[in-house]
Amino acid sequence: MSEDSNMEKAIKETSILEEYSINWTQKLGAGISGPVRVCVKKSTQERFALKILLDRPKARNEVRLHMMCATHSNIVEIIEVFANSVQFPHESSPRARLLIVMEMMEGGELFHRISQHRHFTEKQASQVTKQATLALQHCHLLNIAHRDLKPENLLFKDNSLDAPVKLCDFGFAKVDQGDLMTPQFTPYYVAPQVLEAQRRHQKEKSGLIPTSPTPYTYNKSCDLWSLGVIIYVMLCGYPPFYSKHHSRTIPKDMRKKIMTGSFEFPEEEWSQISEMAKDVVRKLLKVKPEERLTIEGVLDHPWLNSTEALDNVLPSAQLMMDKAVVAGIQQAHAEQLANMRIQDLKVSLKPLHSVNNPILRKRKLLGSKPKDGVYIHDHENGVEDSNVALEKLRDVIAQCILPQAGKGENEDEKLNEVMQEAWKYNRECKLLRDALQSFSWNGRGFTDKVDRLKLAEVVKQVIEEQTLPHEPQSSEIALLVCRAGTWKRL
Ligand code: ADP
Repeated sequence: MSEDSNMEKAIKETSILEEYSINWTQKLGAGISGPVRVCVKKSTQERFALKILLDRPKARNEVRLHMMCATHSNIVEIIEVFANSVQFPHESSPRARLLIVMEMMEGGELFHRISQHRHFTEKQASQVTKQATLALQHCHLLNIAHRDLKPENLLFKDNSLDAPVKLCDFGFAKVDQGDLMTPQFTPYYVAPQVLEAQRRHQKEKSGLIPTSPTPYTYNKSCDLWSLGVIIYVMLCGYPPFYSKHHSRTIPKDMRKKIMTGSFEFPEEEWSQISEMAKDVVRKLLKVKPEERLTIEGVLDHPWLNSTEALDNVLPSAQLMMDKAVVAGIQQAHAEQLANMRIQDLKVSLKPLHSVNNPILRKRKLLGSKPKDGVYIHDHENGVEDSNVALEKLRDVIAQCILPQAGKGENEDEKLNEVMQEAWKYNRECKLLRDALQSFSWNGRGFTDKVDRLKLAEVVKQVIEEQTLPHEPQSSEIALLVCRAGTWKRL
């Protein structure tokens, strides 16, 4: 039996309330899909964590991949999953949702825990690293890239000193399609690529960028990059590509640092930290994935296997007591990850003259600066003319990730224009409709300031949903009707 049908079988359609009571007020943590709550099993009074997702192919995919990985002791266990109809107070009618009951990780998120430790030592950091790496190794052996490895997704089982650390949140996980490590492999950040192309573009008198024969590719090694960033922060309390200019998007100087892989070990904090630790960080934060340490390389590294005491107290715990510092670190990391995933669209640069997009054409006619002369184009699918609806969605992503040419207002207008076009062709898409609601879209424009990276990410999810090779659940879903608050099979 296939994994898909196994999973479908495992999803219960009885009401969760028959077996659990849900605490609607307590929130364990907030993710992009809403808060994770507490639920209590009625028969045993045991506490569990409850994640609630709209029942969409993407959510089913998350459950499927999480279930596949969850047999490992360093991955949060899924206890069971319910498909129920749930209506939240602000909603006019119930909606099909997946309710994922998970083991409760009472110890909370990594950085929160570190900040509570007065004496977080290098040894403890190395033990956390080992467990996170073992979790990743398990996923990668199953050919699954997690793609959202960040401190909020590493949770402690309880508050004891030697509590196990486990990986959660498979919302961005993806089965690796085998397009990895091609000989022409390029660094995976979209920002460096775009910047590089812009530089080339400016140099060329013709003002054209030749279409790259190499699609940008993305692979599991981005999990290792994230691991490197997490180790660095755990040890010193600030991120490697640190920028003093805090802003909503990745600032220029930070982009440059990421692109060139430039970071330092400032004496003040790092003089107390072992050379072994620095070595593992250096080898993980390599711009070129093929030069980066492999999972096995990390697990074999002396820092993870040392018999030395490594009982030096790290400066990170002290720094992480400042919530604003932690929030800044987390935002920067999340933005880097979002950039990496957008990369997954396998975009390449296309000369502006051949772009069939009214907004970008207009920019060209208006003579905007050459730095705008890049455009994303999906290499793999080559569908630019055959599937207008998808192409319009891609235009939105392009608009979101292009460096902004002019003043804010002008850019906002352009975003509204491309979004209107995309909306015109994708009105039927429920995922898009829901997402746009949360971005305060009124059908013609955004009424609030838009987080462009987030919007790009959501639109990418819509594209993914529409281009999934097969959606085994959709026929199942069609067979269900909602009667008296619970889903019944027809
Ligand atoms: P999202 O996919 O919406 O980002 P996550 O699965 O990352 O949601 O969960 C969001 C947050 O909820 C986590 O960062 C963590 O703080 C908390 N959380 C998630 N799962 C658990 C769990 N099993 N036990 C305790 N807290 C959890």
